[in-house]
Amino acid sequence: MDQPFAGKVALVTGAGSGIGEAVAMELAEGGARLLVSDLKAEAAERAAAAIRAAGGQALAHQADVTDPAAVQAMVALAESHFGALHLAVNNAGIAGARVNTADYPLDSWQRIIDVNLTSVFHCTKYQVAAMLRAGGGAIVNMSSILGSVGTPGAVAYVAAKHGVVGLTKAVALEYAGQGVRVNAVGPGYIDTPLLSRFDRETHDGLKTLHPAGRLGTAREVSALTCFLLSDRAAFITGSYHLVDGGYTAR
Ligand code: NAP
Repeated sequence: MDQPFAGKVALVTGAGSGIGEAVAMELAEGGARLLVSDLKAEAAERAAAAIRAAGGQALAHQADVTDPAAVQAMVALAESHFGALHLAVNNAGIAGARVNTADYPLDSWQRIIDVNLTSVFHCTKYQVAAMLRAGGGAIVNMSSILGSVGTPGAVAYVAAKHGVVGLTKAVALEYAGQGVRVNAVGPGYIDTPLLSRFDRETHDGLKTLHPAGRLGTAREVSALTCFLLSDRAAFITGSYHLVDGGYTAR
C-alpha cells in the first residue's frame, strides 16, 4: 500500500466528524501519525479509535480552536507526543444563521468569524512555527465554494471563508522560501452532519446547485486535501482549490 505520509506527524481540527474525520483517516492510511482534535472529547476519541482499529496511530485531543492558548497547547502536544509537526488541516467550522444582513444578529457574526476565520489564524500561527522547527511542512485550510462566491443569508460565513483564502495566500508568501506550503480547499455542499440543519426538501435542493447533480462526499474532499499535503504537490502553495461538482463553473 502507498504510504505518502510515512514518518509524518499530522494534526486535524474538527476531526471528530464529517470532512475532518475523513481527512484524518486518509492521512493515517497513508502512514501519518495523527493528533485528532475536536471540540468534543468523545467525538475526537471515537475518530481516533477508528483510526487505531484500522491499524493507524492516533491520539485524541479536545480543544476549542477559538481559544489561542488551547491551540498553542494542541500544537505543543503534537510535538511532545510525536516529536514534531509536519502536516496540518484547519478544518473545524460551523454553519451559522440563515438570515439576510439587515437582520443578521451581531453575536452570530462574531461567533462565525471567531470559529471559521480567527481560529484558522490561531492554528496557522502556531503550526507554522512548529513546522519551521521540523524543517518544513504543509497546511490546508478548509474554506468553501463560499470562499470565492456569495450566497444570500450567510454574510458572516461567506466573509469568513473568503477571509480564509486571503489568510492562506498571505501566510504562504511569508514561508514559501522556508519549506512550509499553505493552501486552501473549497468544497461544494458535502453530505456531512453540518448539513443536518436542513430539512429533506432543502437538502435535495442543494443537490441541484451542483452540475454533477449530487452532493459531494467527505472522502472526495479528503482526496484533494491529502494530495495538497503530499510531496506530489511540492510546487503548490498559496492557492485555493475547488472540489465542488461544477458549482462555481456556472
Ligand atoms: P461537521 O461534520 O459539523 O464537522 C465539523 C467539526 O468541527 C465538528 O466535529 C465540530 O464540533 C467541530 N467544531 C466546531 N466548532 C469547533 C471549535 N470551536 N473548536 C474545535 N472544533 C470545532 O462539518 P463538515 O461538513 O465536516 O465541515 C468541516 C469544514 O468544511 C468546516 O470548516 C466547513 O465550513 C467546511 N465546509 C463544509 C461544507 C459542507 O457542505 N459540509 C462545504 C464547504 C465547506 P461540533 O459538532 O461539536 O460542533
